[in-house]
Amino acid sequence: MSLTTSSSDYPAQTANKAVYNFGSGPGMMPPTVLKQAQAEMLDWNGTGISVWEMPFTGQDFQAIADQARQDLRELLNIPDHYRILFMQGGASAQFSLVPLNLLLSNPKTGADPKADYIETGYWSRKAIIEGSRYCQINIAASGRSSDFIEIPSVADWRLNTQASYCHITSNETANGLQYSELPNTGHVPLVVDMTSDFLSRPIDFQGIGLLYAGAQKNIGPAGLCIVIVREDLIREPLSSTPSAFSYQVIEQNNGRFNTPLTYGIYLAGLVLKYFKAQGGLSEIQSLNKKKSNLLYEVIDNNPFYHCAVSPAYRSQMNPCFTLVDAELTDRFVAQAGTRGLINLKGHSAKGGIRASLYNAMPLSGVLALADFMAEFAEGCCS
Ligand code: PMP
Repeated sequence: MSLTTSSSDYPAQTANKAVYNFGSGPGMMPPTVLKQAQAEMLDWNGTGISVWEMPFTGQDFQAIADQARQDLRELLNIPDHYRILFMQGGASAQFSLVPLNLLLSNPKTGADPKADYIETGYWSRKAIIEGSRYCQINIAASGRSSDFIEIPSVADWRLNTQASYCHITSNETANGLQYSELPNTGHVPLVVDMTSDFLSRPIDFQGIGLLYAGAQKNIGPAGLCIVIVREDLIREPLSSTPSAFSYQVIEQNNGRFNTPLTYGIYLAGLVLKYFKAQGGLSEIQSLNKKKSNLLYEVIDNNPFYHCAVSPAYRSQMNPCFTLVDAELTDRFVAQAGTRGLINLKGHSAKGGIRASLYNAMPLSGVLALADFMAEFAEGCCS
């Protein structure tokens, strides 16, 4: 099945014009899913109440949560020995919760816990700063010297064999660079912040200890964070960890230690079903490649635009680029907005333009952006 959506799905319509949302997150959601949520808002499945109002301990909500877990497991082909936790606090909370839950002192020497981090841009830096509150951090590799236009080659990483885990950010949302494949860190469990490329492609779980993803890019509403963790890593967290944020407590209570983000889990479940109906992650990945290749081609073939990231590391989710004259950036964003091409402004720390192409962005949106870019460049140069 193709992901080329039907014309009734796209583009989203406001009262008077088509809208393509290139925002980096919260990002564009599939209109079909939004319509389904709207239709079910007041009365879910003949119960006479909204999912919003349902007891989280009741059978109906449990069925919704179990189905979402099951669909996620199928979509990502998650092996049985991994657990899926629906958590709150967004992805940033995991910057602390990963060390709190995974750090181990060396069992032989009792030495303080250690963790490896790979620095590839804005979000990995955030994870490093937060993680360093809990343990001794080894930045095993950093792309800082090249201003984060490349990901350091895995062969050059200086990994610590005593590390409790090695943390990477699979897609740097602000810098627009992405690992084309997840690295192998040997017996040290790999921890991946997949917030901005989760469900954009299939994953090989070999070597993954834990991955986490804030939902607001590809799956659902902000605040929900999906954590997929290998079961042998679920253990007693550091004693200062709040119980509601202990992986062990959440898992032992089947996600019901306290009230979960019920409506967010329901919405994520609708998106997961939609992705399955679209043919799964291989289909989604090929459309994502097509969309980003198209945009990078437009950028590379027009001297008016420039993408600093080396081609091998360019993000399929968040292409970032600049205009030949930075002074024109605001005008570009404003004029694009009048065409319904919205939220194109780059990250505040980086400037320039960022066109986020999450799963729900149809090819027609990228084509509309490409047309606009050609016209804008021509208008400015003539
Ligand atoms: N990691 C990455 C890669 C992100 O892109 C973001 C949000 N843009 C975060 C973490 C933080 O997510 P949250 O706002 O849900 O805490």
